Amino acid sequence: MARTPLIAGNWKMNKLRADALALVNALAEGAGGEGPRPEIVICPPATLLHSVQDFLNHKPDGAVIGLGGQDCHADGSGAHTGDISAEMLGDAGCGYVIVGHSERRQDHAETDADVRAKAKAVHEAGLIAIVCVGETQAEREAGQALATVIAQVDASLPEEADAENTVIAYEPIWAIGTGLTATPEDAQEVHREIRLSLVGSHGPDVSDGMRILYGGSMKPDNAAELLAQTDIDGGLIGGASLKAADFLKIIAAAG
Ligand code: PEP
Repeated sequence: MARTPLIAGNWKMNKLRADALALVNALAEGAGGEGPRPEIVICPPATLLHSVQDFLNHKPDGAVIGLGGQDCHADGSGAHTGDISAEMLGDAGCGYVIVGHSERRQDHAETDADVRAKAKAVHEAGLIAIVCVGETQAEREAGQALATVIAQVDASLPEEADAENTVIAYEPIWAIGTGLTATPEDAQEVHREIRLSLVGSHGPDVSDGMRILYGGSMKPDNAAELLAQTDIDGGLIGGASLKAADFLKIIAAAG
């Protein structure tokens, strides 16, 4: 099955409105035009979603850029001060929600069970979950990278996950924001194992159709080689998604 490449930018806790709109403007203009393009999604902080959505709605000639949230609560509504539900993110214009990013797992002690509940909430809201998994440096050095990642996929993906409602992002923790990147061969090996594990857990059609992104210091100078791997269907990009020129080069490498 042909899988449409997806390039998603995770802005994390960065940008104020003026700077964010300048970046979105540059992306919409730079990624527009003819030729093959990956699907493009940006995940700004929640405070910026309405402004960015409004801006994109008024730029019909620019590239199509989707919106994603960076996290959500597992409940639909209720007494959870400071949290945001998946339905609220949908209402703000998001089509995607990142769940289980390693910074959430570390900073907020989120477990695989929490991630699974959040992914379920994303599905119930009719949105697409980007479920993040990845091993630590110590786990890789101990030869446990594959076992760790496959266990996370097994425990983080809800039963109803399929190729339409879920994307997996393999993000080795030691590569996030460090400038270190998995070699294309090492990344491909993990992606391949994830896809094989999906055959058993969710069936061959889901395995074949589900997009598996690589994340971890993806940049213009390493994107093409990573994205050329058979089981790498795009990227989840942090630092390089904050600079229009870099993000546009990664988009071009995936086209
Ligand atoms: C991320 O946080 O999802 C990420 C991949 O960050 P960076 O590209 O900065 O390593």
